[in-house]
Amino acid sequence: MIDLRSDTVTRPTPGMRDAMVAAELGDDVYGDDPTINRLQAVVAERAGKAAGLLFPTGTQSNLAALMAHCGRGDEYLVGQQAHTYKYEGGGAAVLGSIQPQPLEHAPDGSLPLDAIRGAMKAIDPHFARTRLLALENTIGGKVLPADYVRDAAALARSLGLSVHLDGARVCNAAVASKATLQQMCESFDSVSICFSKGLGAPVGSVLVGDAELIERARRWRKVLGGGMRQAGVLAAACHYALDHHFDRLAEDHDNAAWLARALGEVAQIDVLSQATNMVFLRIPDADAKPLEQHLQSQGILMRSTYGGPTRLVTHLDVSRQDLQTLVDSIKAYYVH
Ligand SMILES: *Cc1c(COP(=O)(O)O)cnc(C)c1O
Repeated sequence: MIDLRSDTVTRPTPGMRDAMVAAELGDDVYGDDPTINRLQAVVAERAGKAAGLLFPTGTQSNLAALMAHCGRGDEYLVGQQAHTYKYEGGGAAVLGSIQPQPLEHAPDGSLPLDAIRGAMKAIDPHFARTRLLALENTIGGKVLPADYVRDAAALARSLGLSVHLDGARVCNAAVASKATLQQMCESFDSVSICFSKGLGAPVGSVLVGDAELIERARRWRKVLGGGMRQAGVLAAACHYALDHHFDRLAEDHDNAAWLARALGEVAQIDVLSQATNMVFLRIPDADAKPLEQHLQSQGILMRSTYGGPTRLVTHLDVSRQDLQTLVDSIKAYYVH
C-alpha cells in the first residue's frame, strides 16, 4: 500500500521495534518508568523548557495544556481551522469548561494581531475571561513566519495572556526553517509535540513547559484517563523517532515539493499549494470518486474531502518511487 492520507499511518521500523523491546520499564503513574523520564527530560531540553510530560495523544496533550492554563469560564483565542478548536471534539468546552474564541486565519495561517487585540474581552461579569492565545505550527502544512510568532506572543503577553503552541508538526516546522526545536518553542509557555506524525512513532505526544504548568497538566492527564503505567515501551519508540527520524523530515518535504511539481504537469488537476510534507489538490468533482477508486485498485490511498481540496501527505513510509507510481497511475487514469 502507498498511503498518502496522513503522516499518522507510518509503522514502527525494525530499529524502533528493537528499542521498544529493550526499554526499561516502571509504573509511570508513580514516576517510576526510567524510559519515560528520560524521554520527557530530553524533549524538554531540546525544546528549551524546564519539564516535559508524555501523553498518549496530541488531543489529550493539548486539552490538558488548555486546562492547565485556563479555568472554568475562561476563554482562549484560537484559529477557526486550528486542531484544538475544530478537530478535537470541542474538548476544551466539553471537558474543560473553557470557551473558545475562534478567529479567522490570514492566508499564511497566522491570526492577525488586530484580530487578537480585538477579541480581548474587558474584565466584566458579562464576559468570559480571556486567558490564552493558542497557535498551531505547522498549520495546514505551512510554517508560521518566525517574526509573526514573536510578535503575536509579545502582544499576547502585553495583554496578560499565556501562549500555547499546538506543535503536532513543530518538528517539520523546525526542519523546514533550519531552526532548532528550542527556537521554534521559545515564544511559548507550553508546546505539545507529536511523535506519531512525521516522526513515525505509533503513539505519543510530549507537552513541554515550566515545572508548575507541567504539574497542573499532570493532574489533568490523570483526570482525563491518560495516566499510563509501563508506557516506556511507547516512550522508547518516541525517543528512537527523535534520534533517527527528525533530520530525515527534510526528505518528506523534498518529496512533497517533487510531487507538487509532477502533478502540476497533469492538466486536469489543480495543485493548490505545497508546504512542508503536504500537497493540496483540486480534483474535478466528477473525477474525485472514480480517481480515488482507480488509485485504490492500484494500492494507493489518498483522502479526497469531496468538494474540498484533496490532501496528500508524505512521510517515512513513502519513497520517491512510490510517488512516481502515484503520478503514473493518475496519468494513466486520464489517458484511458
Ligand atoms: C494530529 C494532530 C493533533 C493530535 O492528534 P492525535 O491524533 O490526538 O495525536 C493535534 N494537532 C494537530 C495540528 C494535529 O495534526
